[in-house]
Amino acid sequence: MMATPILQISGLTMDFGGIRALNRLDLEVHAGEIVALIGPNGAGKTTFFNCLTGIYTPTAGEILLTPPGSTKNVSLKGLKPNHVTEKGLARTFQNIRLFSQMTVLENVMIGRHCRTKAFILGAILRNAATRREERQIVEMSYAILDKVGLAHLANEFARNLPYGAQRRLEIARALATEPFLLLLDEPAAGMNPQETQELDRLIKEISTDGHSILLIEHDMKLVMSLSDRIFVMDYGKKIAQGKPSEIRSNPAVIKAYLGED
Ligand code: ATP
Repeated sequence: MMATPILQISGLTMDFGGIRALNRLDLEVHAGEIVALIGPNGAGKTTFFNCLTGIYTPTAGEILLTPPGSTKNVSLKGLKPNHVTEKGLARTFQNIRLFSQMTVLENVMIGRHCRTKAFILGAILRNAATRREERQIVEMSYAILDKVGLAHLANEFARNLPYGAQRRLEIARALATEPFLLLLDEPAAGMNPQETQELDRLIKEISTDGHSILLIEHDMKLVMSLSDRIFVMDYGKKIAQGKPSEIRSNPAVIKAYLGED
């Protein structure tokens, strides 16, 4: 018997006034998978992420999250973003949203606060029941920074980091919430080829560590290299779904996504 998907979306619909941005979408993500969500500008990809992460409440449909190895699911529909994070789903944003006046280390520690429910950095430290807990948070944050290759910049202000490093810091902050499902919204946007190659390696490593990944990405080389499965949208609807090799040669995808007949 196949394991329960960790993410099960059915009939997801989102209307903005007269605009139907998402039209009855069904999607499943299984433990360990990297699934890419692609489609032309305005297809509804970011709206899809916003519905999953509590920024929008969908007009209709269901979003069920099931921790790996469990059969007990939880509905994310209508939950606030911080509650979605507590359930094990974290995300990054298309436009980087770091705390630019804080250090690299503090940005990761803030990610951790979503789990500890402290709301500002000072509170994290004050609420740490013992010095040991406080040390654990710092150690864990350093370990995550090491994973994304930023440990040597821990005490630098986030605003001083080069663009590619800021994007990796966003991933580090999301990882600090210990998600089993990570949503990445255009992680390679604005990166140069070398940064994109490093990102490719990092995402594969994160996946090997046991995080499932759903990613929106326009860089097709990266999408083809990373994905187990690709889900293609256009005008809020699913137009195709399959392995990279199947998607590459799918006539509907070529027409909609590449604008070719
Ligand atoms: P891109 O690749 O350019 O980021 P996208 O696939 O992420 O595009 P969305 O940003 O999700 O697409 O937009 C899907 C549709 O929903 C568009 O027609 C957009 O104008 C509309 N839309 C998104 N958010 C809102 C909103 N808050 N109010 C009204 N319309 C919206």
